[in-house]
Amino acid sequence: MSFAQTIKNYILHDCRMDAVGIAPVSALEEDALHTPERILPGAKSIIVFTKRIPDGVIQAAFRRMEDGNRFAQSIYGAFGTDLTPNMQLFFMQFNIAQFIERNLGYTAVPVPSGPMHNVTQTNQKMPAFVGPRRVQYLINSERAAVAAGLGEIGWNNLLVTPENGPRVGIGLVLTNMELDYDKPYSGEKLCDPEKCGICSGVCPMHAIPDASELSQTPDWSAYYVQSQLSSGKKEIADVYMVAGKTCGTAHINSNACAVASMAFRKEFSVQGETEDLIMNNDPSDEELSEAYLKKAFSNTSLDHFPKHYCNKCVLYCPVGNWKERYADRGLSKFDGKEYMK
Ligand code: SF4
Ligand code: SF4
Repeated sequence: MSFAQTIKNYILHDCRMDAVGIAPVSALEEDALHTPERILPGAKSIIVFTKRIPDGVIQAAFRRMEDGNRFAQSIYGAFGTDLTPNMQLFFMQFNIAQFIERNLGYTAVPVPSGPMHNVTQTNQKMPAFVGPRRVQYLINSERAAVAAGLGEIGWNNLLVTPENGPRVGIGLVLTNMELDYDKPYSGEKLCDPEKCGICSGVCPMHAIPDASELSQTPDWSAYYVQSQLSSGKKEIADVYMVAGKTCGTAHINSNACAVASMAFRKEFSVQGETEDLIMNNDPSDEELSEAYLKKAFSNTSLDHFPKHYCNKCVLYCPVGNWKERYADRGLSKFDGKEYMK
């Protein structure tokens, strides 16, 4: 059995992850600020694995959004976002690094890849996830997952997998061991934002541009040199390379997203303790920073900044048999038809 297969068996059977793939670090070289070599000199391989979020946890968020049961949100908060998925991925990443070092004799680094790598120091003005697509990650886990063959990056900027859509946690381990590599994802196209449009449509802050604002069906490779594609009025898409393939995804307004995700307005608060601090739909960094300092310190989350988990762009993305899992079982009334083109 190859070393790659030995590692995959350990991850799938001992660590009980749902999918695993391995990519050469060269697949991520275009993202110059976040190259694996900056974390591990001589890095050769990046091992990427996913753990699905249970349907019962996802539907708990629908109970709040669709039935007004705000207490159900705590189930989603604890088991669907940072706490349980990240803790589990953290421990598994640690175990996998131990497994490689003890049994195979190479150096291995567990790399935080979910919301928990945004743990905020108390002397920092803003939580690191504000502007998450800028510089605040160590390695772009979505791009690594695409390079390792696990799925594609959806218009919503998240990894979408054929089996579970974007409703997965991602774990990363970097090693200086050369391994057999998987091919980048080349399966069925999962996200067609010009036909779907659900993530843009459900976003309460209009933070995800509508792909139909693009004047024509994009051939991303033709746009690559521009790196950001504009409708003439605003930036619509980011265009970048992963494993030699050109990708285009929404240019998300992260500051606008923060207004909903962190409830800088009463309408986004789950627990009802929030003031209206930002009414502007396109706040500057300074406005966010100022409002953040006025927020009460949270005693309900590990990292102590208040989170309210909007995540509609994750919860309602149709990829991963959404209709069969939630609508057909009576777990959601959402049908998304008003947003489909
Ligand atoms: S909601 Fe639709 S457009 Fe958005 S990422 Fe999912 S499939 Fe793509
Ligand atoms: S989390 Fe909510 S506010 Fe942020 S991009 Fe997704 S849908 Fe929009």
